Amino acid sequence: MIILKEPKKVAKLKIKPTIITRDQHTISRAAISENALKVLYRLKNAGYKAYLVGGGVRDILLGRKPKDFDVVSDAKPEQIRELFRNCRLIGRRFRLAHVRFGNELIEVSTFRAAHHVSDQGEGRTEDGRIIRDNVYGDIDDDVWRRDFTINALFYNIKDFTIVDYVGGVKDLEAGQLRLIGEPAQRYIEDPVRMLRAIRFSSKLGLRIHPEAEYPISDYAMLLKNIPAARLFEEMLKLFMGGSALKTFNSLRHYNLFQYLFPQTDRLLDTQKQDYPHAFIVQALKNTDQRINEGDSVVPGFLLATLLWGPMRVIAGEHIANGLSEIEAVQLAGDTVISRQILSTAMPRRFTHMARDIWTLQVRLKKTKRRATRVLMHPKFRAAYDFLLLRAQAGEGLTEFVDYWTKEQLEEPLAGKQKIKSGYHKPSSRRRSRKNINKNSTDS
Ligand code: ATP
Ligand code: MG
Repeated sequence: MIILKEPKKVAKLKIKPTIITRDQHTISRAAISENALKVLYRLKNAGYKAYLVGGGVRDILLGRKPKDFDVVSDAKPEQIRELFRNCRLIGRRFRLAHVRFGNELIEVSTFRAAHHVSDQGEGRTEDGRIIRDNVYGDIDDDVWRRDFTINALFYNIKDFTIVDYVGGVKDLEAGQLRLIGEPAQRYIEDPVRMLRAIRFSSKLGLRIHPEAEYPISDYAMLLKNIPAARLFEEMLKLFMGGSALKTFNSLRHYNLFQYLFPQTDRLLDTQKQDYPHAFIVQALKNTDQRINEGDSVVPGFLLATLLWGPMRVIAGEHIANGLSEIEAVQLAGDTVISRQILSTAMPRRFTHMARDIWTLQVRLKKTKRRATRVLMHPKFRAAYDFLLLRAQAGEGLTEFVDYWTKEQLEEPLAGKQKIKSGYHKPSSRRRSRKNINKNSTDS
């Protein structure tokens, strides 16, 4: 358990917010999820302050559907937990409450004070990165710890006004992404903000303000110190938000892609042929299309596409040294993944899926024998989609695509695990062990 010191006094900036009344903005309660409203009202009725903040407010103002809703209150985490049965407290760096309603998660945080610029020591690493941020405050403290002005707009459930301390509404109208405070300092405190800048600018079509843009090249290397598990979470948000291709181009442009996928980045820098780049572009286009059409995208598939280039190079070397194709791909897959998890640590089920997709590529290039076994492989469908992608990216392969398209039509269970006769429900002991493995992280 972390024992927190007495909260420090943080000098308050005496700035008056702009209050935007209900008739002057476009946030209607119909655009806010019922569950988020439930949380806001319950906090309010219990006598606490309650605001919608972050992406929820920003996206509605932009006329977009928010991905999720974040709530902020003066209620402390324990007080929030007392109000909601379906609530769990999480987080070390930020202690906050997760209120769950079926699939929807409402994140409720408590107003916190920003770390003062001169505030060294407790809660920071030697390089100035904030690792704990649990000093509570009020709304006029909380606003300064937020990253971008457009993310620091507070929608008050009490009177339906928007409270804007930082000119976020103006920036939204101007289509610009501006950091709150001194940009270099904000990137030192949390280098992930550089990735967030790329994500929001790509996804929302905003221009990164020059003051937020210039320091990126100087401070990018600070991303090396970010725990690999956090970078994995961020990577998913970057590539699964419906603008993966734009995001990828922007990450490459700002030399940030190397901190997420160093092997792929090196290959793209040194490649003599166009294929690795063309393949990624095609993969990300398809990913965006699927997401924007409401289809699901699995991280294991995305991983297989982003590491396909480096995996192939290593497999090619093994083949040249006399290994069989399948051995070469298995060995190269292990090497590429074990290097990758130094940058983004991820659950084993995702890395396993990438390996399966790659080895199945070898089997999909054989059309004569044991088609049923390949069709019954639980990852057949993903491997088939991957084969299609390779064909779309200019690898030819039409003969194999046609063959497996036809075979699949004749096997309705393709890609599904065959259920054995006499199948028993696993005992709860076995099941729980399976779950542990499933969620274990490759790090
Ligand atoms: P989305 O949920 O659509 O990805 P978001 O802006 O809501 O975007 P979250 O990660 O859900 O992003 O965070 C909610 C809010 O918390 C942000 O809008 C911002 O105000 C604040 N925040 C999140 N991460 C950081 C960070 N690294 N530094 C400063 N503020 C942050
Ligand atoms: Mg959010």
